[in-house]
Amino acid sequence: MRQHTMSRFDEEIEEPFVLGDCEGCGLEVYEGDEHFDYQGDLIHKDSSCVMEYFGNMAISKGW
Ligand SMILES: [Zn+2]
Repeated sequence: MRQHTMSRFDEEIEEPFVLGDCEGCGLEVYEGDEHFDYQGDLIHKDSSCVMEYFGNMAISKGW
């Protein structure tokens, strides 16, 4: 038996579930990505995203 099914890979590709947008970089946060949930805001668990997020928050609140 040497038959290969070409459709095999189609079944393995799953669309990642998008949790929301990162408040730091603005890109999508996928289920399984390491991220913070800060009072409902999603931020990638990445120092640049965290810095961006707190930077934006400081500007919007007039600190
Ligand atoms: Zn991000």
